[in-house]
Amino acid sequence: MAKDYYEILGVDKNASDEDIKKAFRKLAIKYHPDKNPGDKNAEEKFKEVNEAYQVLSDPKKRAQYDQFGTADFNGQGFDPSGFDFSNFGGFGDIFGDIFGDMFGGGGSSRKQGTGPQRGADLEYTINLAFEEAAFGVKKDIDIFRNEECATCHGTGAKPGTSPRTCDKCRGTGQIKVEKRTAFGSFASVTTCDRCHGEGRVIDTPCPECHGRGIARKKKIITVNIPAGVDNGNVITLRGEGEPGHRGGPNGDLYITINVKPHKIFKRKGYDIMCEVPISFIRAALGGEIEVPTLEGNIKYTIQEGTQPGTIVKIRSKGIPRVNSSGRGDLYAQLNVEIPKKLNDRQRELLKRLAVEFGEDVSEAGKKTFRDKFKDAFN
Ligand SMILES: [Zn+2]
Ligand SMILES: [Zn+2]
Repeated sequence: MAKDYYEILGVDKNASDEDIKKAFRKLAIKYHPDKNPGDKNAEEKFKEVNEAYQVLSDPKKRAQYDQFGTADFNGQGFDPSGFDFSNFGGFGDIFGDIFGDMFGGGGSSRKQGTGPQRGADLEYTINLAFEEAAFGVKKDIDIFRNEECATCHGTGAKPGTSPRTCDKCRGTGQIKVEKRTAFGSFASVTTCDRCHGEGRVIDTPCPECHGRGIARKKKIITVNIPAGVDNGNVITLRGEGEPGHRGGPNGDLYITINVKPHKIFKRKGYDIMCEVPISFIRAALGGEIEVPTLEGNIKYTIQEGTQPGTIVKIRSKGIPRVNSSGRGDLYAQLNVEIPKKLNDRQRELLKRLAVEFGEDVSEAGKKTFRDKFKDAFN
């Protein structure tokens, strides 16, 4: 089920960062949807290659991948490492390079010129109950993002009209400016001030979006959260971020998981822990007790003479492993409870029991015990 990212990029496990980058660029260009219009297979490959590169180009993620294998659920990339936004600059840069190559634009034009721009990434935090994180859940989330304006279909021009090529820069988005100084005149290239680098001018803007071509909209997205996710995990929904500009790819949506604490259980990796109160009589006699699990109470038999603080392990009643089979274990710590109040009969019976154990619980006996205790520490 786990994908072999090395195989996808056609590099071996010891490949250098440079090899990985090269392999990615080659494959991304080969499978790019613009080069393979309508080819579903190429599109899939393109996505796979991106996913592989995103993990293998990041030293932290690569190390984790090497150690644990990876996770991918229903087409959702899953990042078990938590999210570090600073790692994503490289990804955008590579995309810029590739689009630069493909569209013949210079590296500098992609940021403010007329080249394609990747849409911005979006972030969202989802709150889950402990059980939802343990067993997986489908959640609908509302996000606000820019979508193509339905009135003008993204052109920004009033329906019936269309944008025209900017006459000042002739569609390049850049103009040459001559600067006169005491040392002579210099020509420099700058963003066209008439079209603001867009290369086109809209004479009659769309009344809906005021010429922007995009509209801010609420969008409901169903997120498939796999069983076993933990606090701080991030689910990546590729292409669900802000739309790309001028043919660039959409940004991604990063969903950070926030798990609410459980009343009974604490989680450690895939194991869960809880405390179970048992009576001192049960501890002494042994027998059946009830232990809570995520799926209700179960019966468990303890031995005669079970000591306070004993931890019992119940196999496979912990958290299901993400992207894998099997579950962690449940550890229940048995807390022996001593009654805080006794009635006369109970007190009498305990005293008789004490005699049976050869223990002196009379006033005189108390003193003897206290003296013994003193001696031991003096
Ligand atoms: Zn519009
Ligand atoms: Zn212009």
